[in-house]
Amino acid sequence: MKVTVFGTGYVGLVTGACLAEVGHDVVCVDIDEAKVEGLNRGVVPIYEPGLEDMVLANHGAGRLAFTTDPVSAIAHGEILFIAVGTPPDEDGSADLQYVLAVARTIGQSLVRPAIVVNKSTVPVGTADRVRTAIDAELAARGATIAFDVVSNPEFLKEGAAVNDCMRPDRIVLGSRSPAAIERMKRLYAPFNRNHERIVVMDERSAELTKYAANAMLATKISFMNEMANIAERVGADIEMVRHGIGSDPRIGYHFIYPGAGYGGSCFPKDVQALGRTARQYGYDARLLEAVEAVNHSQKSKLFELLQRHFDGRLSGRCFAVWGLAFKPNTDDMREASSRTLIEQLQAAGATVRAHDPEAMDEARRIFGEHPGLVFCRTPAEALQGADALVVVTEWKAFWNPDFAALAGALRERAVFDGRNIYDPASVEAAGLAYYGIGRGRSL
Ligand code: NAD
Repeated sequence: MKVTVFGTGYVGLVTGACLAEVGHDVVCVDIDEAKVEGLNRGVVPIYEPGLEDMVLANHGAGRLAFTTDPVSAIAHGEILFIAVGTPPDEDGSADLQYVLAVARTIGQSLVRPAIVVNKSTVPVGTADRVRTAIDAELAARGATIAFDVVSNPEFLKEGAAVNDCMRPDRIVLGSRSPAAIERMKRLYAPFNRNHERIVVMDERSAELTKYAANAMLATKISFMNEMANIAERVGADIEMVRHGIGSDPRIGYHFIYPGAGYGGSCFPKDVQALGRTARQYGYDARLLEAVEAVNHSQKSKLFELLQRHFDGRLSGRCFAVWGLAFKPNTDDMREASSRTLIEQLQAAGATVRAHDPEAMDEARRIFGEHPGLVFCRTPAEALQGADALVVVTEWKAFWNPDFAALAGALRERAVFDGRNIYDPASVEAAGLAYYGIGRGRSL
């Protein structure tokens, strides 16, 4: 099938590549000329396991093209995906300007019947607004072209996006058009071979499903961080508690890891936007507000532990920071906990020696040149001259350091484990002080 994807970010590029991989003829269109020019030269602008190979292979095979020209891209596709950003507006609601701009562009250039598929995360009611925007442009040029709108929220996880797209847990399709649903089922048939993954519903339910999923996941994290804060105070170890509760199948082990707070481009903005939608409809979403508030303070947890250990005297000290990305296997630093920590350390007069396996370029772009922030090529290099080590992102490469070597390298011999990846006893046996999240021993 002929497919057009608006947006070549995490969602658009992965969607385009995966659809091309199963044989569809895909054109991706973006307004970012440098990105499109790079993609046409084989430069994939984001780090996502498996993505580069897939993009290069399908581009080479002629099934995946990149352009900045929306007119030819719209002429190409019988199915037009909208996968552009929906960043938070000043009041926390989702900013729909990019989504609606694409809808208007489609209305201005549509030449034959098509299905417009919204993949961006958008508030309930956006399918109607997309339909209205396209209709208005068609009417303005006196054109009558039939089109359907489908809400098809994306559930991929950064760091595992290609795998999630190729083997989705579910594909949610919301539309009032049975014919559009049938065409979408054909499009997705290669991803739906072994058991039924497609869930069909109305547009509004599909739009809310995405927010409900992210709000549930963010709630699990904030709940565990709240338990961790209680555990720390009462002298219990949250890691023991985690194992204890996860064994109950009604709770399960998934996604109940305490840590230095959640970040990324989705949870913070989606929890906020859902709360905002609720308020617009006259409902005060108190649980969502609490989820956000707990996360906000959790992002300062590592800084508080450092202050506690150093009696509030951080000025002039130097800290090794392992991990900058908001989670492993991505170079994305949007809303990353590392950003909060580094800003707090800089404000306190401390310097930072940072290392991340993939996010160093992104960190340089965000922080720019700063004398108090040195980017190091290896984890070991980050330790040189540092007083203590702070682990912010649980990249696999950080899980098994030589603790004796750490003790030799760190001037103040202390490890702050923001993701509870170390066994406190092993760290302490090497002569290092250990601080984790919610580990009563750190009192
Ligand atoms: P992104 O910021 O990485 O990419 C968005 C892209 O859209 C950019 O390249 C931008 O230049 C392009 N764009 C903006 N206006 C355009 C236009 N008029 N025409 C063509 N291209 C245009 O965003 P993302 O992370 O891919 O997220 C996209 C949407 O998917 C958001 O609503 C997000 O909430 C949702 N989502 C993201 C993830 C994720 O893990 N990143 C997961 C699920 C859903």
